[in-house]
This record gives sequence, structure tokens and C-alpha cells, in this order.
Amino acid sequence: MAISDYYVTLGVERTASDAEIKKAYRRLAQQWHPDVSPDPEAALRFKEISEAYQVLSDPERRQRYDLFGTAGSEAGAGFAGGFADIFDAFFGAAAAGTRRGRPAAGSDLRYDLRITFEEAILGASKEIEFPVLARCETCGGNGAKPGTQPITCPQCNGRGEVRGVRQTMLGQMINVTTCPRCKGDGKIVETPCETCRGEGRIERTRTLQVTIPPGIDEGHQIRLSNEGEAGPRGGPAGSLYVAVHVAPHASLKREGTELIFEASVGLAQAALGTTITVPIVGGEEVVEVKPGTQPGTEIRLRGKGVPYLRRAGQRGDLHVIVDVDVPHHLSRAQREALEAYARATGEIVTEGGLLDRVRDKLA
Ligand SMILES: [Zn+2]
Ligand SMILES: [Zn+2]
Repeated sequence: MAISDYYVTLGVERTASDAEIKKAYRRLAQQWHPDVSPDPEAALRFKEISEAYQVLSDPERRQRYDLFGTAGSEAGAGFAGGFADIFDAFFGAAAAGTRRGRPAAGSDLRYDLRITFEEAILGASKEIEFPVLARCETCGGNGAKPGTQPITCPQCNGRGEVRGVRQTMLGQMINVTTCPRCKGDGKIVETPCETCRGEGRIERTRTLQVTIPPGIDEGHQIRLSNEGEAGPRGGPAGSLYVAVHVAPHASLKREGTELIFEASVGLAQAALGTTITVPIVGGEEVVEVKPGTQPGTEIRLRGKGVPYLRRAGQRGDLHVIVDVDVPHHLSRAQREALEAYARATGEIVTEGGLLDRVRDKLA
């Protein structure tokens, strides 16, 4: 079989962009689809057009074709079924998201769940309650009155879509639309269920127990498949997304798996050493501040942070950042002690605050 020039077949330049190739294919495929074109050559032309598009729309195969004038041995492989798929990829999409011959799926739902800081770290089980369109139990979801069955839609023969052909200046166009009679389901209900009026679903309040895994964080979502809205007339249910919101902690900050506590100690405590009490999740811990601790020193409490969501048993750390508090005001006794300290170290300081000097004079 002689290989025709794919660029000529599609009527594009050799330098054509992907978009130009796609556009040319679309136009020609609409014109030459054998269901539409009365031309006896249509099937052959359509096949050529589809083959050219299959090669030129694949960057790797296009490059090989440009170099060697052939798309290689796989050019014909799997081709027989291939062009129908390409056609569907283009024109199936024109039927605007319908799931042909099947009932539509139910919508996804979102539930905003507020939990405490501790629950996010330790995990929890929370009961949630929300309104949902649930499958009708009277008819089992198909919308037909018990004892009756939905029938195949006579307008589309169960396909869920109808194809129309119309003449335009550019030639014949196929127009695929959702079947107006069955709305794409492919089935219709002649005697509707009285409970749900043929919808197959009714509004109900659902109560669910949601497991919060340890380590979850603000903004995470938990997906519960099949817990969303039921699809109309027996269609598959959507998902429920539980969006987690974590309340802040009074004194701990969280960054991913790490917790941060800002501690403040006095001058003497930093110099002489002390112990401080650090809040940890589920309690508190006494932590030693060593003599000579500098401002900004970090004390790391290993494994006291947040559990890793995807690595069981592993936890982040709790970082204690020690700040040294320099007093704003000194009592006379404190001042004298610090002045004595300064004399001992040879530090030159401003002796006697203004107030003290005034007070000394008045005394
Ligand atoms: Zn029903
Ligand atoms: Zn129909």
C-alpha cells in the first residue's frame, strides 16, 4: 500500500502546529465521516485522514515520519479500532459530559469539620451529620414504582444520545446531543415510584463516623467514596470530602510534623541554669535549661512532635526556643545586685537610674 503524504492528506504545512493539525483533522473528519458523507469514497478518505492524524498528533511518530517518510512498523498496528476512538475523543466530548446510556453520577459533597489541635495530632473519631440525597429505598434507586421496571428509551434505543445531521456552508455536520427524552440515561420510567417521584433518591440526614488519622493538618481532606449524593435513577454515588480545620493551640505552633514552643527565661536563669515546664500534646514536660544558655537556643524534644501521616510510628520533634528576658524595670535591690555583678565582670554600666538618683537626693 502506497503511503500518502500525511501533511497533504490533512491539508496542512509541514511546519503546522499541533493545534493546526488538530483543527484540520476535526474539520475533515466531520466532513468525511462515513455516517454523514454520501460520497462512496468517504470511508476510505476518513480512514486516511484518521491515519494521518494518528501519526502527526504523536510527537514521536511525527518526528520519525518527517525523517524517514514512514511512521514505522506500528503505523498500522491497532489501527482498525483506533480511529473510532479518536473520533469519540473529539465528538463524544461534544455530548457535554453525558455518560451515554448510563445514569449520571451523584455530586460530590464537602463537609467542613472543625477539630482541636490535640485531635489533629493524636487522631480521633468524629460523628458528623449532614443532609444528603440518598438512594430511595422504596424503588431501590431506579425510580420505578415497585413491581414495574424502567424501560429502554425508545427515542435513542438506550444509547442516551441522538445524532443529528445538518447542512452548513462547510458541508455536513454531525451533531451529537444528549437524548432529550431520557436525559442520557438510556432508560425511562413509565410508572414513577411514589416516594421519590421517579428520581430514585430522596433527601435524608446521614450520620457518619469519620476516622481522623493522627497527624492530619489544616486544609487536609478526607475522601469517603460513595458517601456523596446518590446518582439519579440508580446512578453511582459521588464522594464526600471532609475538609479538616484545626483550631490553634494556646502556646504551641505547628509546622508540618514539627511543634514549636517559645520559652522565656530570666537573665539569671539563662546564666545559672533552670528548669522550665513545656506543654506537650496530652500533658507537659519538665525541661532543663543549662547554665550559660544563649538567647535563641533551641532545645529539641525528639519524638514529641506530630506523627507522620504516612509513616506509622514516626513522629516529628518539639522545638523549644529559649528567649532570654531582659527586664524593663528594676527594683532597687535588683539594680544593686546587677551593679555588683557589673563591677565583678568589669562591665561599664550606667550606675543608678534617673529615678533612683532623684530618690537618693530627696532622701
Ligand atoms: Zn423511589
Ligand atoms: Zn433516550
